[in-house]
Amino acid sequence: MERVCPTCGTSSEKTHFDGDFCEKCSRISINCPDKVPISQCSVCKKLAKYKSTEEGVLAAVKGDYASAKYDVPNAILTVIFKKGGIIIERKKIVEIGIRKEICSDCNKRAGGYYEAIVQIRGKEERMARAIKILTEKLERLTFISKVVDRKEGSDLYTGDRKMTAQAIAEAGYKASRSEKLAGERDGKRLYRTSFCVRLD
Ligand SMILES: [Zn+2]
Ligand SMILES: [Zn+2]
Repeated sequence: MERVCPTCGTSSEKTHFDGDFCEKCSRISINCPDKVPISQCSVCKKLAKYKSTEEGVLAAVKGDYASAKYDVPNAILTVIFKKGGIIIERKKIVEIGIRKEICSDCNKRAGGYYEAIVQIRGKEERMARAIKILTEKLERLTFISKVVDRKEGSDLYTGDRKMTAQAIAEAGYKASRSEKLAGERDGKRLYRTSFCVRLD
């Protein structure tokens, strides 16, 4: 039986219908706030919870939909719904509200916190190269709170021992590792780890 859309008057013989309405006038709509708050560190610019602002907006889309994408430069959210065999596309302008905060890494770095020391020792030309490579990796995986240049080489003070071990392995260096008790906090023993990278 032919149906006529009560909103625009289009016949069901010309277009798909979602219940009483044509697909264009279907009451289906995007369930997402007009403005999505996303926290970003004002020092290192990392987002607190998401890899990208797009991921942050998509996490705020609720309800039953088939797929969604967010066009960051134009702030347009597109959501595809599948209902009763028809595909309905809806678009909405969604703004991002950046909330400035300081992430825990930057907080710790500012306070001079460190869990590990990377001691780089050996021939001068090889050390310069190793410091460059390791600094880049350590800054990406954790942070460096202090660099101490010594007669025998350089010490890099880093924020996370596990990430420090990973950075050294990724760079292809071998290190001898030692643990040292550094005190106690909240009844827990605190250890500092030294990684000695020898380049002879
Ligand atoms: Zn209609
Ligand atoms: Zn940060």
